[in-house]
Amino acid sequence: MRRFVVLLAGAGLLMALTILLSGCTLGASEQGNPQTLPPIVTDEPLPSPLTFQNTTRIDASGRQIVTNPEHILVLVNKTRNLPPDFVPADLVAPQVPFPFTAHEPRRFMRATAALALEQLFAAAHAEGLHPYALSGFRSFERQAAIFAAQVARVGEIEANRTVARAGQSEHQTGLAMDITSREVGFTLTVSFGATREGQWLAANSHRFGFIIRYPQGKEHITGYSYEPWHIRYVGTEVAELLFTRNLTLEEYFQQQYGFGIN
Ligand SMILES: [Zn+2]
Repeated sequence: MRRFVVLLAGAGLLMALTILLSGCTLGASEQGNPQTLPPIVTDEPLPSPLTFQNTTRIDASGRQIVTNPEHILVLVNKTRNLPPDFVPADLVAPQVPFPFTAHEPRRFMRATAALALEQLFAAAHAEGLHPYALSGFRSFERQAAIFAAQVARVGEIEANRTVARAGQSEHQTGLAMDITSREVGFTLTVSFGATREGQWLAANSHRFGFIIRYPQGKEHITGYSYEPWHIRYVGTEVAELLFTRNLTLEEYFQQQYGFGIN
């Protein structure tokens, strides 16, 4: 933990700018109405409903804090916060191409997700594609600093529309990675979705346990605009299911466990 904090504190302005420019923190919060949907029927073994009973607590400020931040299916969004002190215990740097050389915390993912990412990249390379990983783990403290900087720049109302508050970024789980390519100048942009790498990612991520977490047309459910670059590890069974049924993680939880869509 201390090591990461020190690393984060020492990270340069360029990294902060890169993250600020990341659309991962962009998107207006739109929330649909609570929905009662039939549970998903599948032959695949999915976690028991009991697994996700009582997975939040209310903190002194009245916010919902997830109590299962280490679960690979943890649901984090604008209403379900991670504990401020949560740092995954098993962060490692996947051996995949990054468009920078510095050894920074944003290289890190949790070990299982990192291994899956390496397999995903190997499959992409085998098809002649050249994705790059850009941004993985991000601590609560870093997200807080980014949000504060944005408040100072544009005011709190605008900052709230464009930057995730600390605790509400999926990057703090260590299960998310932003993917980019040379074709889009190693940035995070919607046009990545139309590139060969972006299209391959959308069509194949599920084979390796990843989902496109903020898909097009689901903004009112996820609270975030379309992010073709942000993949989230959920394991192959759930990823396959979400892919074939065109479901977001919120919809999956709503259907399977009776909560998720606010
Ligand atoms: Zn992201």
